Amino acid sequence: MMENRPAGPDFEIPFAERMSRLGTETAFVVLAKAKALEAEGRDIVHLEIGEPDFDTPKNIVEAAVDALRDGYTHYTAAAGMPDMREAVAKYAGDMRGLTFSAENVVITPGAKPVMFYAILALVNQGDEVIYPNPGFPIYESVINFIGARPVPIQLRMKNDFRMDINELLGKITERTRLIVINSPQNPTGGVLTKADLEAIAQAALEHNIMVFSDEIYSKIVYEGAHESIASIPGMAERTVILDGMSKTFAMTGWRLGYGVMPAKLADAVTKLQTNCASCTAAFTQRIIPEALFGPQDKPREMVAEFKRRREVIVNGLNEIPGVTCLRPKGAFYVFPEVKEWGLSSSVLEDRILKEAGVAILSGTSFGAFGEGFLRLSYANSVENIQTALVRIRDFAATL
Ligand code: PLP
Repeated sequence: MMENRPAGPDFEIPFAERMSRLGTETAFVVLAKAKALEAEGRDIVHLEIGEPDFDTPKNIVEAAVDALRDGYTHYTAAAGMPDMREAVAKYAGDMRGLTFSAENVVITPGAKPVMFYAILALVNQGDEVIYPNPGFPIYESVINFIGARPVPIQLRMKNDFRMDINELLGKITERTRLIVINSPQNPTGGVLTKADLEAIAQAALEHNIMVFSDEIYSKIVYEGAHESIASIPGMAERTVILDGMSKTFAMTGWRLGYGVMPAKLADAVTKLQTNCASCTAAFTQRIIPEALFGPQDKPREMVAEFKRRREVIVNGLNEIPGVTCLRPKGAFYVFPEVKEWGLSSSVLEDRILKEAGVAILSGTSFGAFGEGFLRLSYANSVENIQTALVRIRDFAATL
C-alpha cells in the first residue's frame, strides 16, 4: 500500500504545460488590491470593475424567489430548460429581425462560458483567430490556451476604436478559422458601424470563416439601435452570438447568459457544458421570461443614468492636462489616452490606486495595444466619479 505522506515544503506541483498559456482578467486582481487597501482604512473609488452598480430589478428577484419556492432546485437539461431556450430564441430573434428556435440556444452560467465553449468547439491547434486588441482579455487567453494563433487587430482612437477593415482583410489567411467581434466594445466603448459589419460579413462568407459576435452590451447603446452581424443575410448560419443578463439587467452575480448559434454547433456547445457545468442553475433560468419580456423601465433608466455619467467622466477627463478621451457610443467604459504623462499604463494603474485612491485598469489589461491608455468604468455614482476626477487631476499635477 502507498503511504499517505504530507507534501514536503519543496514539493512542486507539476502543472500542465497549457497553464502557462492561460491569461486572466486583471480587473479581479485590481479589485483585490483595492479591497486590501480599504481593509487598511483607505478610501478607494472603484472604477475598475465592469458591472452596473444598480440592484437587479425587483420583479426579476421576485421571479427567482417564486421559482425557488416552486421547487426549481434541481438539475435541468444541459442546454437549459426547453421553454426558457424558446423564450431566449424569441427575444434574440425579434431584436435582430431573425427567427431562432430553442435548438439554437444554449443557456450558460454567465455569458463568459459561451466564449470558452465556442472557441473549443470551432478552433484547432495552429488555427488562426482574429480578434480586437485592446479587447476583452479572455479571447486572447483562450486562443493561446488551446494552442491556436492569436491574430490581433489594433483598435485605434483615430478610428473611434473600430476595427480597421482593411487591416482585418489583410490578416485573413487559409488558417483563419474564426473572427471575434465585440460591439459595443469593452474596454473602449467603440461601436462597429453597419458598413463595418457588412464588410466583415462579406469576408467571412467569402473565406468560409465563422464569426463570434460578443453582444453582451447590446442594450447599452447611446446613439441609434444595436446592429448585429447575424442580421446580415447568410450570417446567422455562421455566427455565434454571446449575450446575457449580466449587464442589461444588473445581474452579474446571478451568472446567467446564453449563446445563440446554428443548431449543430449548439449541440457541440451543449456537450461541452455537460462536461463542465452540467447546466445553469434552475431557478435563475426561470427568471428569463420576466427579464426579457417583463417591464423594461429599470434597464432603460439605467442606460439613461449611464449616459448622464458618460458626460461627466468624458468632460472631466478631457479637462485634465495630458488626457484625451473619446465619447463612447456604448457600454459603460471610457478608454482615455494618457501617453503625455510619460509613464507606462501598468505603473499608472498601480500609482493611481496607491497614491490617488482610485481603482482603474491599465489599457494593457486588454492587450499590448492598450499601452498608453487607461480604462475607467463609469458604473459608479456621479458623486464618486467626480471625486475620482479630482483625485486623478491632483495626481497628474504631481507628474
Ligand atoms: N463579454 C464582454 C465583452 C464582457 O465585458 C463581459 C464581462 O465583463 C463578458 C463577456 C462576460 O459576461 P458575464 O458576466 O455574463 O459572464
